[in-house]
Amino acid sequence: MIPKKIRRLFQVGRNFPGNLLQAPVIVLCYHRVARLEHDPHQLAVSPENFQEQMKFLRDNFPVLRFDGEWFFKECSFVITFDDGYADNLHEALPVLHEMGLPATIFVSSGFVGGARAFPWDGNDVPARPEHRQLSADELRQLAGDPLVTLGSHTLTHPRLSELAPAEQEREILAGHRTLEEVVGKKLAVMSYPFGNHGDFDRNCREICRQAGFMRAAANYPGQAHSWTDPMAVPRHVIRDYGAREFRERLFRFRFL
Ligand SMILES: [Zn+2]
Repeated sequence: MIPKKIRRLFQVGRNFPGNLLQAPVIVLCYHRVARLEHDPHQLAVSPENFQEQMKFLRDNFPVLRFDGEWFFKECSFVITFDDGYADNLHEALPVLHEMGLPATIFVSSGFVGGARAFPWDGNDVPARPEHRQLSADELRQLAGDPLVTLGSHTLTHPRLSELAPAEQEREILAGHRTLEEVVGKKLAVMSYPFGNHGDFDRNCREICRQAGFMRAAANYPGQAHSWTDPMAVPRHVIRDYGAREFRERLFRFRFL
């Protein structure tokens, strides 16, 4: 095994063979832009750090849409958000506008309106203000924004691999359709809840393919190339990193 420092110096890691053939598309996964007292799952990035992160991306890389055409000619990034928190509109969108960067927001349609908090936020009825999800009106506002792509994230955010095929289908397709009805337009992309290797299976990918989705996002680290299954696009989860750590992480996502 080559020591990490040496691999880093020569930029030789598990991404090396792929990068030799083609520049990668690297998809980032955010959840929230907020300042939280208590964030045990590290879902929130502070507004200041988000601003720094977006500025670094804008100044250094092409930023593509998750539902856009990917050419793999130079290393590019994609910004995505999971779950559908209200702060995506109120905190993240103004920064995206300032930087002129597109982003995709994946929404669990059963939680729209904040009638119930997500389980990891305590299941409160209704959701506490700091954990509020997007309302139908806010979703329509996002749907009309030229920088935003909306996608679905199932109906009730289950671990899909634990469900029977019929239930998987309902979660994926009804979740998608419900969201389309709220915003009044066709949507082409989705992301799997939890999204790690064991959280969704081949049948889920097949349901998405059959439904004609353009891409579906997973949640394990990796790069996308032209040979990547569009129904399981890897993503890197981004935590509340300052400018320096963000820069270092992107370097690792690219080369190691
Ligand atoms: Zn989620």
